[in-house]
Amino acid sequence: MTILKTLERLVVVSNRGPVVIKDTAAGTSASRSVSGLVSAVEPIIENTGGTWIAWCGRKSPKPGESGTWPVPRNNPRYVVREVTLSPQEYRDYYLGFANGCLWPLAHSFVDRCVIDFAQWETYQEVNRRFAALTAREWREGDVVWIHDFHLALVPEMLRRARPQARIAFFWHIPFPSYDIFSILPWARQILRGLLNCDSLAFHSAVYVDNFLHCASRLLGVKTPNDNRLIHWEGREISVRALPIGIDADRFRALAADPRVQQRAAAIRRAVGTRFLVLGVDRLDYTKGILERLQAIEIFLEKFPECRHHFTFLQVAVPSRTEWKDYRELRRAVEETVGRINGRFGEQWRVPVRYQFRSLNPEYLVAHYLAANVALVTPLRDGLNLVAKEFVASRIDNAGVLVLSPFAGAAEQLTEAVKANPYHPHHMAEQLRFALAMTPEEQSRRMKLLRQNVEEYDLSHWWQSVLDSLAETRPRRVQPLSWSRSAPSLG
Ligand code: UDP
Repeated sequence: MTILKTLERLVVVSNRGPVVIKDTAAGTSASRSVSGLVSAVEPIIENTGGTWIAWCGRKSPKPGESGTWPVPRNNPRYVVREVTLSPQEYRDYYLGFANGCLWPLAHSFVDRCVIDFAQWETYQEVNRRFAALTAREWREGDVVWIHDFHLALVPEMLRRARPQARIAFFWHIPFPSYDIFSILPWARQILRGLLNCDSLAFHSAVYVDNFLHCASRLLGVKTPNDNRLIHWEGREISVRALPIGIDADRFRALAADPRVQQRAAAIRRAVGTRFLVLGVDRLDYTKGILERLQAIEIFLEKFPECRHHFTFLQVAVPSRTEWKDYRELRRAVEETVGRINGRFGEQWRVPVRYQFRSLNPEYLVAHYLAANVALVTPLRDGLNLVAKEFVASRIDNAGVLVLSPFAGAAEQLTEAVKANPYHPHHMAEQLRFALAMTPEEQSRRMKLLRQNVEEYDLSHWWQSVLDSLAETRPRRVQPLSWSRSAPSLG
């Protein structure tokens, strides 16, 4: 993959960064952190160089900014600047407002959304800290690239401190419809925060439409029909659907690696059935794992002739384990696996296998290669990288992707078999259809899917972000004025 070095310096700002820092009795240690955001952004900053401002997992009674961490340590390509949180901020900003309010709201789980003024105040406070550090880090010519719903107010706070800054923002999760977003008492502040960027991007055209509709209804922003360049408070903002691409070359190379192929063969032997169906997700209620298991149960009931030939493997990556809702989800998933295996298991064979852990890239690709079908059926998902990674790994042009229409990736991956996760009978039927697909049809679909994932890869994504920044006019520097809704950097 080639990433063009087309800018002075990149300053990435995100809640979680590429390293997790821990204080232990033996001293301070830094380890790598794994997430979709890191997988997408790190190859870019490794090429461009620059600074990554992030919370690295440390809680401190006296929060603020602490160390600077060169990455990688031995041969640094860029620098991480750490923001620390107090235990109360961790609770109210991270677990509370970000994950307990914005996350469910954006995924349209209104009944899970908790609205709490104290959490909102803490969210503003933490955003202010990120913005202050970014403003200090900023130099003329930098591109500041802010990520995700944790930091929606940072663009406005930064704009006030550095009016001429070039700011891009990527919103990684769904953007909900007006009826849902307007439930948030601070919807206008979030929109104003985001409208202070030069480039604002989402994974899908539906999220762009939702955002523009909200901005129009709640702030009176005029949205032209012809393109996505909007004008607001004397500035131009490019609002685009720029779905993240993956480093397709890397997945192709892993899939071609003989050791990975041997692992795939070993997985097939261990499973021992003709068909292996795979699910890989963080254990999150948005991923539809329980609903998928329900569909598997219906599939086994409806198609008894498949029972002896069929294994479903669910890899559930631990997530937000400190939270009761997520622990309860884990319990429900594990009970359901037990119930299905109790019903349909025979002697030493069970139809559902389950792992509560994260796989490293080599193992993950071995699983992608071993599967006949990948069941990617979230109830709602910003994009879903696993769907793209499965496709990029299938250099044999075999295997079938069954995909929820409610994953952002469905807009691009049109040759996938679609399955409605809210309709388990439909999912079971679509799974049967996928398993019965001829090798010729699998190959036809997979070639088209691979073409798409390879063309719109990670470097294409980054270039699109730069292009969207370039299409807005350079800023006319405005005198600073403070509005009621715009908190200062303090
Ligand atoms: N992943 C991983 N090991 C695993 C499962 C997933 O490294 O065992 C990675 C996967 O390669 C992907 C990311 O985690 O890049 C998950 O991204 P996705 O968009 O599918 O979901 P998210 O967890 O960001 O909601």
